[in-house]
Amino acid sequence: MEAASRPKPKIQRLPPLPPAEKNHHRERKRIHVICFAIFVILPFFNILRFDVPNQRFYFAGAEIAINEFAIAFFALMFLMFVIAAGAIIYGRIYCSYLCPQMIFSEWSMLVERWAKKRTKYPRLVFHAVLGVASVFLAFVFTAYFVEPRDLFQRLIRFDIVTAGGITGAVVTVLTYLDFTLLRQKFCTAVCPYGYLQGMLQDKNSLLVHYKDNQEAPVCIECKKCVRVCEMGIDIRNSPYQIECVHCGDCIDACEDVMRRIGRPGLIHYSWGEQEQAIKQEPWYMRWGFRDAKRVAILLILLFYAAGLSLALSMRKPVAIQLAPDRTSLYTALPDGRYANKMRVKLANRTSKPSAVRIWTESLPGAEVANLPANPLQLAAGQTIETNFEIRAPRTPQSRDVNRFRVLVQAEGTAGAQSFDMTFIMPVAAKEK
Ligand code: SF4
Ligand code: SF4
Repeated sequence: MEAASRPKPKIQRLPPLPPAEKNHHRERKRIHVICFAIFVILPFFNILRFDVPNQRFYFAGAEIAINEFAIAFFALMFLMFVIAAGAIIYGRIYCSYLCPQMIFSEWSMLVERWAKKRTKYPRLVFHAVLGVASVFLAFVFTAYFVEPRDLFQRLIRFDIVTAGGITGAVVTVLTYLDFTLLRQKFCTAVCPYGYLQGMLQDKNSLLVHYKDNQEAPVCIECKKCVRVCEMGIDIRNSPYQIECVHCGDCIDACEDVMRRIGRPGLIHYSWGEQEQAIKQEPWYMRWGFRDAKRVAILLILLFYAAGLSLALSMRKPVAIQLAPDRTSLYTALPDGRYANKMRVKLANRTSKPSAVRIWTESLPGAEVANLPANPLQLAAGQTIETNFEIRAPRTPQSRDVNRFRVLVQAEGTAGAQSFDMTFIMPVAAKEK
């Protein structure tokens, strides 16, 4: 219903209510500060970083190669489900409380208001502050994809020639334009999460809901809820407006106004359009677990989280692939021994150098030969692929196909990795 067509309110004064228990705006600002600190810390401590030049994914301090399928799969599925579950259960709470775009948009508006009130050259001060902030924010953002120390070197050299330098410069310009011109318009015009939200929402998703008495409305038409809304909407028209990011500022505004005439606010967080306000419900309902669908979502999330933890706990610092090279079955050596060819691929997934030793078991007199070195030295992040030979003499116990094991151990790991192999040599009558 449009605000203009509402019946005139009859106001009955009641004793004033006690002070508000919660101020959503203040709480949101506190969370914004925490989110900003997390945004800055994550790439610098490799808690979450996707190093494009080195094709490495850093997660919780672990260095993961892009080709580590199980970890990449569980990490992506887990993050996808977190986003989907967040949207289904909590609506656009992420947008208003956690999204860097919203945090910096609101912050840039704050700077603009402050410059207008407190300085002599407001436009100049505003653009100067935003310019410096854009360089810093673009640096932190680019550090999610390029090693931070390397990026800093490029920044102080004003590098706009290499891919990393160009990326940093482009992100700085985009950040500056975003926070001086676009701001919250980004949320409704560009952001895919805003659109996705509309599709995922259902009758139990969290909403900001205006509810007045139909017969005797008490809304005093002060429009404070409209004035405080940074997204420029009137929540009284509908709780399903795509612009609404569920920030709760209109809830605070209305409570503040209505409190003065001794009435509770008319705008609440609610699950769907139900009348009951959140604070009147049992705790599990308040946490959003209101139907079987939400419990299923939680279980799927737990499944992917468990899969991710398991894959992380099982990952090896050096990936080892070993296979026989059967282009020839065996080679007879001048000293009477026989040689079988092998191929080994080693990938050091850590940020430290490593050494890998290869030896055999259960093949009498056998030795590993033709390796560049044993142990093989691997630099941080290096992958080596090389051929080598297993050489062994014939003994009274030898057969044409001899089962044995190749053991490979990387420096610093508790045990060796064992590979069951066969060693082929001719029986005496067929010897070539
Ligand atoms: S309508 Fe209210 S909750 Fe929605 S964006 Fe505006 S102030 Fe925030
Ligand atoms: S702040 Fe509350 S009382 Fe004022 S117009 Fe909005 S809903 Fe009505």
